[in-house]
Amino acid sequence: MSVLLSGLALSAIIAVAAYRLGSLSASGVLGAVLVGTLTLSLGGWAWGTVLIAFFVSSSLLSRYGEERKRALAEKFAKGGRRDLAQVLANGGLAALLAVLHAFQPGFMWWVAFLGSLAAVSADTWATELGVLSPGPPRLITTGQRVARGTSGGVSTLGMIATLAGGAFIALLGAVAPESAGRAGLVFLSAWVAGIAGSLLDSGLGATVQAMYYCAEEGVETERVIHTCGRATQFRRGWRWLNNEGVNLISSLSGTLIALALLGVLV
Ligand SMILES: [Zn+2]
Repeated sequence: MSVLLSGLALSAIIAVAAYRLGSLSASGVLGAVLVGTLTLSLGGWAWGTVLIAFFVSSSLLSRYGEERKRALAEKFAKGGRRDLAQVLANGGLAALLAVLHAFQPGFMWWVAFLGSLAAVSADTWATELGVLSPGPPRLITTGQRVARGTSGGVSTLGMIATLAGGAFIALLGAVAPESAGRAGLVFLSAWVAGIAGSLLDSGLGATVQAMYYCAEEGVETERVIHTCGRATQFRRGWRWLNNEGVNLISSLSGTLIALALLGVLV
């Protein structure tokens, strides 16, 4: 019970601070408290530390270069406030893995958890830093030059951020007591899974993610309601697959790849 309460208290403090700093919406606070409480109280301190490291680093990077981002890409026009759907798409699977770990404790849940968070970290770092790249990005599938902030666009800076974001989570996981004696295995599984999950996110963004068009401003967007407040027209991709769906698939693939590597490397 005391573990649950301290998990709840710490999650609430961090989520409210993130709300006040403009990183979470009101519904996003609810999601962060839910994900944080489950992960901290059921996973333990190592799990909680990795989750908080992902959340704080992503929030700080989304505030970094805010003025330039606002000018560069419509995607960032309303700042980095995450809502409930975005929080669950990034952290929901991690919390579910903490629940599974509580029912049937095992090393595999820990590695799966790291794979999931390595993927969403790599993707978030790449998105938030890649947009500040000096040149325009290229589409991951065809290499064609596209506008900054376009889903599926990649740049050298974004790729370095992908490697760093995945390594950050993999390293924190490797030095935790949970990984004692298996640090190298944990690092490699989580890092490779994070990179692969983030690349899959870009691949889906370039091909099948639902994209819309704001006729008023003549720009493509991933939003049904554009940042200018107008309704957009569906243009291409799978209608049911929005950005949150792509993030969820990315985090799930990070988990599965980490587990597959664990199976191969052990
Ligand atoms: Zn518009």
